[in-house]
Amino acid sequence: MARAAMVDEVHFYATLARDTGEAALDEDVMQSLGTVERHEFVPARERRFAYENRPLRIGHGQTISQPYIVALMTDLIEPDRDFVVLEIGTGSGYQAAILAKLVTHVYSIEIIEALADEAAARLARLGYDNVTTKLGDGYHGWEEHAPYDAIVVTAAASHVPPPLIRQLKPGGRMIIPVGGRFMTQQLLLLEKTDDDEVITRQIAAVRFVPLTRER
Ligand code: SAH
Repeated sequence: MARAAMVDEVHFYATLARDTGEAALDEDVMQSLGTVERHEFVPARERRFAYENRPLRIGHGQTISQPYIVALMTDLIEPDRDFVVLEIGTGSGYQAAILAKLVTHVYSIEIIEALADEAAARLARLGYDNVTTKLGDGYHGWEEHAPYDAIVVTAAASHVPPPLIRQLKPGGRMIIPVGGRFMTQQLLLLEKTDDDEVITRQIAAVRFVPLTRER
C-alpha cells in the first residue's frame, strides 16, 4: 500500500538525517503518518503523487509540506495526549490532521481565505472534530485559547513572532522555520523554560513558503 511505503521511506530518511538527534521518529507520530489519508488533502491533479515523500502544490502558490518534514516537526514538539496545539498556516489541513491524531485539540490559522474554507470543510468531512480553524494572520497567534503546550509554524518567518512566544506555556515548545524568502531557512526548536526564558536549537535547513502579513 502506497501510504505504508511512504511511512517506510520517511523512517529511512529519519535514520539517515538524524535531525532530532535520534535514529527514529516517535512511534505514535509514525502511526499518525500511516493513518492520515494524504490523498484527501491534495488537489485531484496531484493525487497520484500523494504518497511520495515530497511537497506538493495545493493552489494559491502554496504547498503541502514533505511528509518527512511534517513528521519531524510533529516529533520535535513531543506531542502528548493532553496537549492543546496551535498551528500557523493551515494550508491543506494535513499537518493539523496529523497532530489531531496525537493531541486533545488543534487550533489552526490560515491567511488565504479559499484555503481556509477548503481546509475547514475537508477536516469536518473527514471527521477531525478536534481541529478548530480560522481565517487570519497567524503572526498574532490566537489569544483566546492561549497558552498552548506547543506551537507549530508551517510558513517561514523573518523572525520568531513575539506574540507566539507569549502564547506558549512555560515548558512549551515551538517549531518554526526562520529565514528570508529566497534562501533556505533554519528550522528552529524553541523551548520556553519554567522561568520564561527561551532556549533555541537549530534543527535543519529547510524551505518553506513565506509567512505573509495582513496588509
Ligand atoms: N500546514 C500546511 C502547509 C501549508 S504551507 C499543510 O499541512 O498543508 C503554509 C501555509 O501558511 C500556506 O497555506 C499560507 O497561505 C499560510 N500562511 C502564510 N502566512 C500566514 C500567516 N501570516 N498566517 C496564517 N497562515 C499563513
